[in-house]
Amino acid sequence: MRSLGEELARLEQAQLRRRRLTVESFVSAGNRARLRVAGRELVDFSSNDYLGLARHPALAQAMAASAAVAGAGSAASHLVSGHGFEHEKLEEELAAFTGREQALLFTSGYAANLAVMTSLAGRGERALLDRLSHASLIDGARLSGAQVKRYVHGDAEAAQRMLAADGEAAAILATDGVFSMDGDLAPLPRLARVAAAHGAWLVVDDAHGLGVLGATGGGSLEHFGLDARAAPVLVGTLGKAFGSFGAFVAGDSQLVEFLIQKARSYIYTTALPQPVAAATRAALALARAEGWRRARVHELTARFRAGALAAGVPLTDSPTPIQPVPLRSAAAAVAAQARLEAAGFLVVAIRPPTVPPGGARLRVTLCATHTEAQVDALVEQLALACAPTREVHP
Ligand SMILES: *Cc1c(COP(=O)(O)O)cnc(C)c1O
Repeated sequence: MRSLGEELARLEQAQLRRRRLTVESFVSAGNRARLRVAGRELVDFSSNDYLGLARHPALAQAMAASAAVAGAGSAASHLVSGHGFEHEKLEEELAAFTGREQALLFTSGYAANLAVMTSLAGRGERALLDRLSHASLIDGARLSGAQVKRYVHGDAEAAQRMLAADGEAAAILATDGVFSMDGDLAPLPRLARVAAAHGAWLVVDDAHGLGVLGATGGGSLEHFGLDARAAPVLVGTLGKAFGSFGAFVAGDSQLVEFLIQKARSYIYTTALPQPVAAATRAALALARAEGWRRARVHELTARFRAGALAAGVPLTDSPTPIQPVPLRSAAAAVAAQARLEAAGFLVVAIRPPTVPPGGARLRVTLCATHTEAQVDALVEQLALACAPTREVHP
């Protein structure tokens, strides 16, 4: 038996032990990016609530109305008696939103990615993934039994070379649309060509692109002008820009039917509660009707970048509301988080194994509900919090 105490002590020593914060309450209805943690009021720059919908009253109202008629829980899996009216309507609306024949709801993005990877790849095949793909894509690929290959981040030519090399048939080329810890976009047009040339499914996990990118919030595929033929398997999550919970896979009817029959993470789990689906429908309607939310988050992102560059805060090239501040060492990232917290900002340090060794960072995320003053104040504090680190690591 391994010593759990020793392993935990090692994590502590390396500044890699994770700690949960408890959000005690949210401060004032009008300013939804503020929360109370350990008795302190913090402006939250760590959530994925890009459009500011998670605490929108319309979602809570939709949830309450649905709970009043459907109850809190769905009480069974989708294939038994748990599939309800709200699920059905939401799937139709998600299919229309993504311009695909059908959409299939999942209880989480994690479950959706396991479903796609294990159903479309298997023994005797290869699954290729970007080196920085989300953990759920990697876990799904491993679980599929396929030979898992990871290509250099964002390098479609590297993927092409791997596929061209001798080996087993290629089943899947999978990537995040927007990388969750880096905020950059995958080279989707080139990846689509590579996948098509080798007869592999292109799987795009657009957890951080949907609702945020593209003229109508259609995500990174809309951003690049790619249709369902170029990217036949689209995974979207509902707990980020849509402020709700759950996930979906969108594609043609055959793909969805195949997942319903084969995907263990779809079949052997209780259906998402209907009130959650009802809240997501409200969120989708708001995201479509209130284009200003998308415009606003991009405006604040530009403001943050301009301010940070002027103040000497290290940045990457990310064009999305995910703005990593690279600090390399876990200790530096943890120290910067603590300094920001003391100044009233919640910006959580991201450390290995979520990012590669030496890749510790603060992951700043902008939301439509932030104010200019909050963004400017964060930049000012970041400049202070990052300054000592820059001297240590010139
Ligand atoms: C968050 C995330 C997931 C997981 O989605 P959940 O609904 O939170 O399980 C999958 N892929 C990416 C890229 C993500 O960022």
